[in-house]
Amino acid sequence: MERIINGIRLRLIQGDITQQHVDAIVNAANNALAGGGGVDGAIHRAGGPQIMAECQAIRTQRGPLPTGEAVITTGGKLPARYVIHTVGPIWQGGKAGEAQLLAKAYQSSLRLAEERGVSTIAFPSISTGAYGYPVAEAARVALGTVITFLEKATTLKEVRFVLFKSRDLATYQEALQELLP
Ligand code: ADP
Repeated sequence: MERIINGIRLRLIQGDITQQHVDAIVNAANNALAGGGGVDGAIHRAGGPQIMAECQAIRTQRGPLPTGEAVITTGGKLPARYVIHTVGPIWQGGKAGEAQLLAKAYQSSLRLAEERGVSTIAFPSISTGAYGYPVAEAARVALGTVITFLEKATTLKEVRFVLFKSRDLATYQEALQELLP
């Protein structure tokens, strides 16, 4: 499924984000930039030790990465040139500012991508794994935030959501259909 916003393609696909041939992929990291399970583990496994070395250097220089912010490393052995590491919120029931923080994680990542002149970027479904954010609600926030950003974006040509599970792809498709019929 895809839509065009301000001349920029927004695509939803099922797949493995580590295999995407794009300028940048986004990692659903943790505050410590320490690696972990889920998509974070998959990216470090596929990308090799270079990415973790860069994460450790960033961590040493600036301390833990606050939720909603983003940093960038090279892509190591990945097909992608860059990895943008951002931290989504842990779901606490929905009244602890989770939606704002999730929107901020997408915005920070997109801003960093544009600063580097990225034209193609792939996102996973941030916060909906170990962090427990309900997928339908996360999809609305993620897609709504990206659509708003794309209305003013300049270097981007394609934003791809790479959903690991077919059920998650279906949920994102329903959300996009509601936002842009
Ligand atoms: P978080 O801690 O932000 O919830 P997780 O990595 O636990 O992050 O989960 C985020 C999403 O990433 C989940 O929907 C999970 O299915 C998905 N995921 C796991 N591995 C991959 C992968 N290789 N490519 C794309 N998405 C993945």
